[in-house]
Amino acid sequence: MANVTKENPLTIGVDLGGSHVSAFLVGTDGEIRFRSGADISDLTFETVVKLVVGAIREVAAKVKSVSAIGLGSPGNIDPATGTVRYSPNFGWRDAPLGKALRSAFDVPIFIGNDARCATLGEHTYGTGKGTANFVLLTLGTGIGGGIVSEGTLLLGNTVAAGEFGHHQIRATDGFICGCGKTGCFEAQASGQGLIRHALAVAPSFPRSELFSEKRDIGSKAIRKAAEAGEAHGVAAWSRFIDDLARGIANVIAFVNPELIALGGGVSSAGDFMLNALRPKVDELTTMAPRGTTKLVAASLGNDAGGIGAAVMARRGGLTTKERD
Ligand SMILES: [Zn+2]
Repeated sequence: MANVTKENPLTIGVDLGGSHVSAFLVGTDGEIRFRSGADISDLTFETVVKLVVGAIREVAAKVKSVSAIGLGSPGNIDPATGTVRYSPNFGWRDAPLGKALRSAFDVPIFIGNDARCATLGEHTYGTGKGTANFVLLTLGTGIGGGIVSEGTLLLGNTVAAGEFGHHQIRATDGFICGCGKTGCFEAQASGQGLIRHALAVAPSFPRSELFSEKRDIGSKAIRKAAEAGEAHGVAAWSRFIDDLARGIANVIAFVNPELIALGGGVSSAGDFMLNALRPKVDELTTMAPRGTTKLVAASLGNDAGGIGAAVMARRGGLTTKERD
């Protein structure tokens, strides 16, 4: 692969998750030309690097050259070296991901947080396009996020800006979070949070079939039960929406965005979720004029992180500004 820029606008974007890695070959139009991927079952650093390198090679083989590679990973990442300082998802500390990829590929490598990459993707090509004040919240197993303020993607002092998942919304009566605190937004209002709400209220619904062998115990099954009006599902969903609304209202208080896009697996609930959320968020919004922050579903779905990583590669970092 050669190091070309304008002559070769193609970059590779990689979305590294705890159970899957995807690599996309992406043009400047944001279109995915080729994609590859692999499931991850062993989280040791060496195994994950092998899978990432394999996925990149597969898409790189489709063209003569690409100009750069970007990768979004869970955790806190040193943007200068690409070292993953801390990733609870992988159980890594100071994992030299950038160094490993640089020894495998002879093009510039950029590594950033996966949720910030997804924010960049959604802001460049998705629902956030054209907005100056934008927030992406990814609701999956956990909660990730990113902030675009006055047109700039906020990174913060140690590139940890936008970690909405770990602000506490129920510090005294909430669930224990993976980070060790109690009642984090992520513990209460992610897909995992929905399952925990369903388990918490289960004793009140002895005849519920939600956790019977006939159903998988996934957040989607609980949402479907709520949509069907089944009492146990409705009770769990209602608590989940209450907590999600609390966190979103806090985000509005801190950031005052014009648009919040909800992405990640849980957001496939679409209007069923948004219609329940909007009035509750309004109720909890006290300082910004109510109803002035639009709540919508993100449009790039699971591809946002990989597309955003490709944008990061093209721009030479996690920035909303194109290079000259
Ligand atoms: Zn937490």
